[in-house]
Amino acid sequence: MKMSTYLVAFIVGDFEATAPVAADGVPLRVLAVPGKKRLADFAVAIGKASLEHFSRYYGIAYPGDKLDLVAIPDFSSGAMENLGAITFRETALLVDPETATRAELERVADVVSHENAHMWFGDLVTMRWWNGLWLNEAFATLMEMLAVDAWKPEWRRWDSFAVSRAAAMQIDGLKSTRPIEFPVEKPEEAAGMFDVLTYEKGASVLRMLEQYLGAAKFRDGIRLYLRKHAYGNAETTDLWDALEESTQEPVRALMDTWIFQPGYPLISVERSGRILRMSQQIFRYLQDGSDGERRWHVPVFVRAGTKAGVVNQTLLLTETEQEIELDQPADWVVVNAGAHGFYRVRYSQELLAGLHHGGMGHLSAVERFGLVNDAFAATLAGIVSPADYLALIDQMAGETDVNVWTAMNASFHQLQRILDDAQCERLADRLEAVLSPAVARLGWTVRPGEGELESQLRGDLIGALGILANDGATQDRARVLFADYEKNSEAVDRNVIPALVAILSHTGGTTEFNKFLARFEKAQTPQEETRYLFALANFADAKLIERALELTISGAVRTQNAPYLMRAILLNKHARDRAWSFLKLHWSDMNRQYPDNTIPRMCDGIIGLVTPELEKDVRNFFSAHPVKQGSKQIEQHLERLRVSVACQERWRSFLRG
Ligand SMILES: [Zn+2]
Repeated sequence: MKMSTYLVAFIVGDFEATAPVAADGVPLRVLAVPGKKRLADFAVAIGKASLEHFSRYYGIAYPGDKLDLVAIPDFSSGAMENLGAITFRETALLVDPETATRAELERVADVVSHENAHMWFGDLVTMRWWNGLWLNEAFATLMEMLAVDAWKPEWRRWDSFAVSRAAAMQIDGLKSTRPIEFPVEKPEEAAGMFDVLTYEKGASVLRMLEQYLGAAKFRDGIRLYLRKHAYGNAETTDLWDALEESTQEPVRALMDTWIFQPGYPLISVERSGRILRMSQQIFRYLQDGSDGERRWHVPVFVRAGTKAGVVNQTLLLTETEQEIELDQPADWVVVNAGAHGFYRVRYSQELLAGLHHGGMGHLSAVERFGLVNDAFAATLAGIVSPADYLALIDQMAGETDVNVWTAMNASFHQLQRILDDAQCERLADRLEAVLSPAVARLGWTVRPGEGELESQLRGDLIGALGILANDGATQDRARVLFADYEKNSEAVDRNVIPALVAILSHTGGTTEFNKFLARFEKAQTPQEETRYLFALANFADAKLIERALELTISGAVRTQNAPYLMRAILLNKHARDRAWSFLKLHWSDMNRQYPDNTIPRMCDGIIGLVTPELEKDVRNFFSAHPVKQGSKQIEQHLERLRVSVACQERWRSFLRG
């Protein structure tokens, strides 16, 4: 059939295939190296479900006549959407649902759905050139969410998407960000586009558009676009044409501000009687006044509590400042209601008090996520003080949502990297006061009838209490439980095991290191293999750090994983100085051994090198040793390091006091 050449794959190797199942009449199989076929059932189930979901959503049958999902033992990407012969790294396809955590299962469901979505977006209709990569990847990411959400609504996939959106906002708040789409002339520029801005920012702004237009109208526009350009190439402008034709809305003017302009706005909101005043300005972690005035067409979703009840309004904010008039004065206001918007919100003191007054009761889980995430970003940018951020955390003691906790824990991880030991202790005490009651509420064992997200939360919180809050009792209990698990693999819930492994690696010594190394070598599933491998990066002992570093270049670790092991060691505070020297010494070796696209990802670990001296050395090193591809990402890592060093003094003097 007519298709782009980059989507053709010939695969030679010793593979076993599952018996074909019919997905919308198409035979679907999973292929793996001998011995691993037993881990394919979950992928077959989501493969079939998502393929059927997409042929309904797009209103177009799957364009091929068979679909093979192939697990490749060493693969530098996550997966690749060859038409009818999709290739995956093993962790993204093969999984044992009896022993894997919910998060690990979700990853397989995500990647399989993503690649299946490409069979239409990317394969049936292909971008004309690499500048339009987001047309493939942002859409496949959006469709992946829709399919997984339809398959397992209890996972609340759109809530956890907030974590991905936050990752994109973290990069897009830097001066070294880029627009989603830009002219591509060199191969390195095309390679550099495979990042969170193309995938996660792209998917976020599409979700924002979908919510603004309405899901059915949006889908109709997508169907029209696919029908018009089937077996051909398309540009971004073709998509806007189709969406405008089907919705009669000025989609192009709105979306051009998000696709061709880097960054995103901070929306400030104030109340004056019945009026809500909204204004927009660019959000930057480091402000130097050089940005000038930038404006976006921002769909602002507002929910307000008034005497007459709760009201919802949408404003398309296109000017620097606009107003909404309510029928009654609002007691409280949620801006970015539903949290689909790709922007941050800054409430006036009065409106913030109004939200806090009702506890967090006015906010949904994903809106609380936004509140915490925006507050921490504002803290890094120097807009919100450390005291105000911690006061917000104190209010979250009753929090029950796994993603909100992810945002809080991530912020503490980041802070611990920039503080000295005594200050970390003080911060750990603050966190412990919030975490302990949360763990006590959930208990250490699964309760009858609890949801999968609750089980995941238990594991996350135990890990945070044992590591971030450095709680001795939790660490003791983790050791006992892991010993039980060694005797009987069913003694501990699968969602708690990664926390035990993480705690033991942070607190353990040679015995634990050897144990985990052996488990890595003899792992029965790809998930276990990576769990024990990356645990080796966490040890504090100097000799064990050396052994972990040695593994990155000895050939004992697949090249798809070795760069990420190196990244994890750089992020270990006890190892960072040594790891940085090791990386410099073995730089050319690593560049020879590792796939080119993993080098900038490995270098993400330099954000852990938070001292003014290391920062200077890192900068000098990368000016003398430019990377082959992904120089933009290196620039971004360096700026993130700058952001951390810049806010270090603020946090240190606060915690000293
Ligand atoms: Zn993709």
